[in-house]
Amino acid sequence: RLILVTGGAGFIGSHLVDRLVLEGFRVRVVDNLSSGRLENLERHKGGSSVEIVVGDLKDPGVALKAVEGVETVFHFAANPEVRVSTTNPEVHFSENVVATFNLLEAMRRRGVRDLVFASSSSVYGEPDHIPVGEEEPVRPVSVYGASKAACENLMHAYSRLYGIRAVSLRYANIVGPRLRHGVIWDLINKLLANPRELEVLGDGTQTRSYLHVSEAVEATLLAWRRAGEGFAVYNVGNDDWITVNDVVRIVLSEMGLEGVKLVYKPVAHGVGWPGDVKRIALRIDKLKKLGFSPSMSSNASVSATVRSLLEEIDR
Ligand code: NAD
Repeated sequence: RLILVTGGAGFIGSHLVDRLVLEGFRVRVVDNLSSGRLENLERHKGGSSVEIVVGDLKDPGVALKAVEGVETVFHFAANPEVRVSTTNPEVHFSENVVATFNLLEAMRRRGVRDLVFASSSSVYGEPDHIPVGEEEPVRPVSVYGASKAACENLMHAYSRLYGIRAVSLRYANIVGPRLRHGVIWDLINKLLANPRELEVLGDGTQTRSYLHVSEAVEATLLAWRRAGEGFAVYNVGNDDWITVNDVVRIVLSEMGLEGVKLVYKPVAHGVGWPGDVKRIALRIDKLKKLGFSPSMSSNASVSATVRSLLEEIDR
């Protein structure tokens, strides 16, 4: 059985590829290598399980070829940097909405009927209370979040019109080995450049839930296997949540740094940049009903990630 993983050279995508191969699937990866790296797939080099196609899904022809002979599509290709869309909204429209439309069109035309999509907690924007459940309104406050919501709506329509089984997974902050964006990566790199002073985006009280990528992949496969027919949405996050200040403390402690001067850079209501969300965490009861249960806390997931990334940087 052949499975397509778009964005399979990226952080979450490459971990998903590892797991699918372990389970005996053949995998085709399509990735334009804009933020993904071939070294994430190094272990599959020379083997017969993973076919790598370097191509851009903004090109409808690439999408059509990508789905050829495929049974299921895991669509993880996107520009994942929320901050980018503040200064350049077009990026998320084309990288996320246009690419997803091209993929759905290709699936319709080639009769591929099974899709799992990497959506995001950012579709909820600034919810009135946390944790937020799947039934809460979708009110994104970033173009990134809006682009993910648009993709979900396209999936819903394609599911109804063309019988595509579509599972949308709204991920919290996913962390772990190979991560190359977001707050942990940012803090580590700033500290390596200057271990005396650390710029923190926002006022440090921004609240998030962090889930280790190994558990995110587990949840992804569970939702894929157990979701029913039609269109389904699942939150994928942890049971707890922590602040950016907690993340800073963990990074400093894992790096063995003391006496670092913290310089906060808040905008508007204490967030790190326009479109950043002050408090977000997901209710995961629906996923738990499928049998998911996270075993690492947000704290433990962040600590493990800092250790992995420091090792990767050292190598
Ligand atoms: P990533 O940047 O490592 O992975 C995205 C991959 O998509 C990269 O390999 C990139 O090269 C590829 N790509 C981008 N545009 C493409 C295009 N037009 N054609 C082909 N390939 C393209 O990021 P990630 O953190 O692994 O994110 C994977 C998915 O999960 C994304 O859709 C992201 O929006 C979503 N997501 C991630 C998180 C998180 O915390 N990491 C949270 C919520 C949602």
